Amino acid sequence: MTSAIDSASSRSTPPSWLPDVHITVAQLASGILEYYQRINSNEPFRLPYPANLQAAFDKMTLLSWHQGVTPPASVMDLLQLAEQPFEEWPITLTGAGVDPEESLLSYGRPNTTCEELGSLSGDVEGEIRETALVRAVMDKARAANAPDSYVAFRRLLIEHPTLTALALDERLATPELALLAGEVRQAYAEVPPEAIADGVVRTCAGCRGLVLPLDDDRTWVCVDATCPRPGKPGPTYPANEGVWWLRRELRTFITGPGRAELRIEQKVKKLGAPIHLWPDFDACDLSVFDERPWVADVKAWRNPIRLANHLKRRLFAVPPDADRAFIVIAHEQVKAQPRYLERLHRECPLVRPGERVVAVSESEFLKEVATRLETQA
Ligand SMILES: [Zn+2]
Repeated sequence: MTSAIDSASSRSTPPSWLPDVHITVAQLASGILEYYQRINSNEPFRLPYPANLQAAFDKMTLLSWHQGVTPPASVMDLLQLAEQPFEEWPITLTGAGVDPEESLLSYGRPNTTCEELGSLSGDVEGEIRETALVRAVMDKARAANAPDSYVAFRRLLIEHPTLTALALDERLATPELALLAGEVRQAYAEVPPEAIADGVVRTCAGCRGLVLPLDDDRTWVCVDATCPRPGKPGPTYPANEGVWWLRRELRTFITGPGRAELRIEQKVKKLGAPIHLWPDFDACDLSVFDERPWVADVKAWRNPIRLANHLKRRLFAVPPDADRAFIVIAHEQVKAQPRYLERLHRECPLVRPGERVVAVSESEFLKEVATRLETQA
């Protein structure tokens, strides 16, 4: 979908006091993430608001004045606005890297857009890799020379974003995961109280995550924006036995792309080529063929402009022995936005065809693998 917000151009030099729209929206997203983290913790919320949220409110006020529209009356007012698609905001947000139909909150909770925008550096994914938890897992697995443990950790997070306390204990008793038991437990938190009704926790068959109630308390929805089958109910678990839910940032940056990674693994195996996931402790997401390997990073960003900005800052380092290198865009994203790759190539020439790293769709990648197998045969 073409972004009216991104393509509109400013016509005159803005005054020096006018806040940068991109930073303002990123600060708002970051402030919202922090605010919801605080209200979802068990302690009662106390003012002041998170600094980023307050700063975003002040800046939105300045932007409103400049544009001659009514500013949000309060931080709570701004949070209500965050539920609306950007095209319905009175404030125009040219240059913020958002699409008109996107919003920051869905069903009263921060969504993927908010997560993608929410780091001030814009480099959330990099931070995830640097996050204390994932780093601790990698260090521990590396020190024990246990790449299988690292792979088992990634698989668990992708295949089981929700699981019962008993199921988690069983997983942690396996030789691969026993090494990482402490870290795995930190990756999960208890399900939020609103997820429990009639003594049970409901799940989604499409992503194996939680479903949560809408305001009417009767409609239950999957909260994973990239869920392949959000309408299909999964198993229910008795709440009193303890149910765990993967932390949000891990769901966005590990579970989302991970589904595509596991799907590609299965299809490449079926084609008959050797494939390794997260080889060499996550040097890249996957590596196909043992000789002259092809390496790939799989991306499931909702918005191609934000992914382009991310790639411009942090394109993955291609191992010297790699024959070809790809950024593979997960099927869900290309399906949701048919012009995804076109927009990505336009915004980020570094990954156009002919470059060292080329961005392709999941199906294009599989077609390339099949072609190489045919010509090798
Ligand atoms: Zn789902």
